[in-house]
Amino acid sequence: MRTQQIESPKAGEVRKYKMLVGGEWVDSLSGKVFESINPYTGKVWATVPEAGEEDVDRAVRAAREAFDTGPWGKMTGTERARLMRRLAELIDENAERIAEVESTDNGKLLREMRGQLKGLPEWYYYFAGAADKIQGETIPSDKPNFFVYTRREPIGVVGAILPWNSPLLLLTFKLAPALAAGCTIVAKPAEQTPASTLEFAKLFEEAGFPPGVFNVISGYGQSTGRDLVRHPAVDKVAFTGSTETGISVMKDAADHLAKVSLELGGKSPNIVFDDADLEATNNGVVAGIFAATGQTCIAGSRLFVQERSHDVLVEKLSGRAKTIKLGNPLETQTEMGPVAFKEQLEKVQSYIQIGQEEGAELVAGGKRPQAADLRDGYFIEPTIFAQVNNDMRIAREEIFGPVLSVIPFRDEEALIRQANDTRYGLAAGIWTRDIQKAHRVAHALRAGTVWINSYRTLSFNTPFGGYKMSGLGRENGLESIKEYTEVKSVWVELSGQSRDPFQLG
Ligand code: NAD
Repeated sequence: MRTQQIESPKAGEVRKYKMLVGGEWVDSLSGKVFESINPYTGKVWATVPEAGEEDVDRAVRAAREAFDTGPWGKMTGTERARLMRRLAELIDENAERIAEVESTDNGKLLREMRGQLKGLPEWYYYFAGAADKIQGETIPSDKPNFFVYTRREPIGVVGAILPWNSPLLLLTFKLAPALAAGCTIVAKPAEQTPASTLEFAKLFEEAGFPPGVFNVISGYGQSTGRDLVRHPAVDKVAFTGSTETGISVMKDAADHLAKVSLELGGKSPNIVFDDADLEATNNGVVAGIFAATGQTCIAGSRLFVQERSHDVLVEKLSGRAKTIKLGNPLETQTEMGPVAFKEQLEKVQSYIQIGQEEGAELVAGGKRPQAADLRDGYFIEPTIFAQVNNDMRIAREEIFGPVLSVIPFRDEEALIRQANDTRYGLAAGIWTRDIQKAHRVAHALRAGTVWINSYRTLSFNTPFGGYKMSGLGRENGLESIKEYTEVKSVWVELSGQSRDPFQLG
């Protein structure tokens, strides 16, 4: 029976959300709430509970109980998979409405969020398919009279902490393998964009998951997020967010040795060789930095262009940047929406200022648009800096906005040195028609994902994660199941005879 409806946001409406804890919709115990702002209008459109320490404890205990003694813990992988498939069907039925909620909350284009939501069921189908194949192995024992095998068991209670840029996609990267493995989850969406995760939680009831398997608490990072990471009954923290927060999460998790996986920031090189198809490259570069208003961890924010193509490409890109249509993210013809919230807009503006002070050449954008329909929203023009040096702050620090730094290069060797000269290692793009060079450079780059003649493609079946300070562990693909399982070795003595108690082995 349908217990909670997911509806499209209506103009002027202020929604009041509750949290899902142990299968019940609850306010915070303190009664405190906070506001979520629509970045296109700059107005409050929803209020959500602010979870305190007791609320976090209540949610973790619900997840613990569901894992330790509830029906979920006794289910086979095949039974869990059945629930996951039902969840996938419900996501598909509600995709349009949830996408509208995400766009309203974070200002990203409806057409992008719709694409993400429509693709989301595939994650649950894929990992449902894996749920009854999470298996151990038999080990040929080196000792006579022993039978040895391993079991791959769920890690337990997972605390999932999410950023604001693609709330449900990034939650799903964690949730689908965690459910397949048999874990229970407490999710904390970002304070800027809590609504879509709370809407999404409604589907769990309808799909028939036992109470406590999936819980959502809303609140701020320094309080609610930190309380979740530090809770001793959390076995694993799955975090996506900035590198600085990731470091602090890892330190907090270390106090009770919770396992940690981290998906963090990036400053990804997008590399254009002289032999590239410049039309395709132009599109790929735009996708890499202006799609999603540049607010993606994989943004191709450092564009390395080989000397001969440099001026032509910069001219093409600046021309395209100036025609990108800014507007209401809910309208289909809009190409770039606002930045997600005010502080983020101010951060982007400050980097544009820094770039100019550092001596980079501003060749497109750099200002807030003045059109009447854009004045209330947190808009910034698509911005391109040319003649950037890889040592400048705009080439080293993650801006997380639509700001491209173009860096010229001469040869392959110098390029690889500069491209790898960064603390990050999340992704990279290579544009060339030379297949040998393409693979050679792909192998030399220290990054978790490399695209050749493409940019910004992801799949449920392909591992994703960062080298260096871009992260720890992998999401997606069968690889990610390892992040949510423990390996147990079982030794069975077969002879029934007693052994020397003072000898190992
Ligand atoms: P953020 O680190 O500020 O916040 C992320 C989440 O962590 C939020 O839910 C926040 O409330 C919570 N948080 C903050 N402080 C915390 C603490 N001390 N303990 C526990 N939780 C805490 O990041 P953001 O601004 O929301 O997101 C942008 C960042 O996320 C960028 O750096 C971006 O590159 C990164 N990101 C990475 C990936 C990836 O897959 N690698 C994907 C998307 C975004």
